Amino acid sequence: MVAMARRRTDSLELVAADVAACRRCPRLVSWREEVAAVRRPAFQDEEYWGRGVPGFGDPAARLLVVGLAPAAHGANRTGRMFTGDRSGEWLYRALWRAGFANQAESTSRDDRLVLTGAFVTSPVKCAPPANKPTTDERDTCRPFLDRELALLREVTVLVALGSFGFAAVARHFGVRPMPRFGHGVEVDLGEGLTLIGSYHVSQQNTFTGRLTEPMLDAVFARARALANEPRPSRMGQMAPHVGTQSRRD
Ligand code: SF4
Repeated sequence: MVAMARRRTDSLELVAADVAACRRCPRLVSWREEVAAVRRPAFQDEEYWGRGVPGFGDPAARLLVVGLAPAAHGANRTGRMFTGDRSGEWLYRALWRAGFANQAESTSRDDRLVLTGAFVTSPVKCAPPANKPTTDERDTCRPFLDRELALLREVTVLVALGSFGFAAVARHFGVRPMPRFGHGVEVDLGEGLTLIGSYHVSQQNTFTGRLTEPMLDAVFARARALANEPRPSRMGQMAPHVGTQSRRD
């Protein structure tokens, strides 16, 4: 009964508040707060967010972008996913080129960035040391992604940036056997949903040329095409393509 009551009243705003207040993973809480206290020399004058970082974007999104976790000096500093670092520059520039963002820059929570038709999140909501959450931390945080997925009713395409997000999405939808991750790999999740794999926008990939802007553009062009297709919604009805502005942005 309690779970049903929560489902009826849950909202992205509630998820965001719960994520920001969450302290369930002692190692990650300790790390995110230490990073926020020590800070990088370039950001010494800034107050770091230093908490869990919720998803960001359009509540009526057709496209869901799933990364790994907040970056220590990016989202953990600014409080918004993929904001304030090189990875975010790559991601939002690509979303802007694909028509999902009103601007290419993503520098802070008040930079006027608005996503239309897209939402960006991660399976782990706190910055992990070396970008490596443990299996326990992944599983502890899983209910937040589950709640976001339940609330984002219009999503039909999920782009996973990296194998961690790819596996998290496949696990959520009960895909068996676990599909092999690759750039451009597509997985039919059932219920009219498609998962697309993409190499992560980390500097490890973008500096080395493993991921190029044309490669990323191809993924979002495909996502755009799939998002524009009329598909059965998760309620079993035809879902219209809604592209409202985010209520939270
Ligand atoms: S990773 Fe998730 S479950 Fe763990 S403390 Fe952060 S928000 Fe909470």
